[in-house]
Amino acid sequence: MNILNNVPQDGDYLVRVMSEGKNVIGLACVTTGLVEQARRIHGTSRTASAALGRALTGGLLMGALLKLGQRVALKFEGNGPLKRIIVEADPEGTVRGFVSFPQAEVPLRDEKLNVSGALGSQGLLTVIKDLGLKEPYQGVVNLLTGEIAEDIAYYYAESEQIPSALGLGVFVNLDGRVSAAGGFLVQSLPPSEEKVVDLLIENIRKIPGVTDLLRQGKRPEDILAEVFTGVSHYPLGRRELSYQCPCSRRRIEKVLISLGAAELQKLIDEQGQAEVTCEFCRSKYDFTKGELEALRAEGQAAN
Ligand SMILES: [Zn+2]
Repeated sequence: MNILNNVPQDGDYLVRVMSEGKNVIGLACVTTGLVEQARRIHGTSRTASAALGRALTGGLLMGALLKLGQRVALKFEGNGPLKRIIVEADPEGTVRGFVSFPQAEVPLRDEKLNVSGALGSQGLLTVIKDLGLKEPYQGVVNLLTGEIAEDIAYYYAESEQIPSALGLGVFVNLDGRVSAAGGFLVQSLPPSEEKVVDLLIENIRKIPGVTDLLRQGKRPEDILAEVFTGVSHYPLGRRELSYQCPCSRRRIEKVLISLGAAELQKLIDEQGQAEVTCEFCRSKYDFTKGELEALRAEGQAAN
């Protein structure tokens, strides 16, 4: 594990509530620390920080709906300069992610960071859920706006037929640092109760954006209280959140072995060594010629 993994992201956590009638679940989280950590790892531009931060937060909210041992991966591919955002999260509250072109920047729109301009409003969102079954579940939808939150809500509606509302926000200072990040996710569970859903939609329309709420000092619990105004509900618990990458030298070795003996030999002949960088945490792994030869032999022995 990389040393970056051991930096605690104080204060990042997720809470959830259930409506009294058990037909609506609500989750909210603050992710300021881990989004700032992602910014430092990847050296993202201001708009890329906002885009990646929203995707990381959305991934954590989606991951929180899974069972222990399951994982979710989100792949946003757009026609904007960021190209791709990849995020992986699990229900234990860990997340990692990266952007293809982290330094790409676009002009502000209405004096705000233009996330959909950076990602692009044309493209695909692919959601891959590893539910511990033989084959992972995969759903693909077109990007709706490229603003991330709407795209995830659209995915749930189209691919899983679950009516959902999401709010995601990242506030990036002029100096590039992330000073507020978080989000909420509300899902209607069957049998849906129309009156409750209408009230929630009305509440969500009325509240300010997530970054405004966080910058006012509101906690995730307060955000859910505002969203659930007039709907009786009870708490379901709290979980700490962190940016973590489970990569290791052994995992990278396995990737190299999976290239096959011919590819490895080519690497040995042409470069005489290899430096592999983990895309998620930027950890570097160096391999000497001798080590590459040992991996080639290991791969051949296994076949
Ligand atoms: Zn890594």
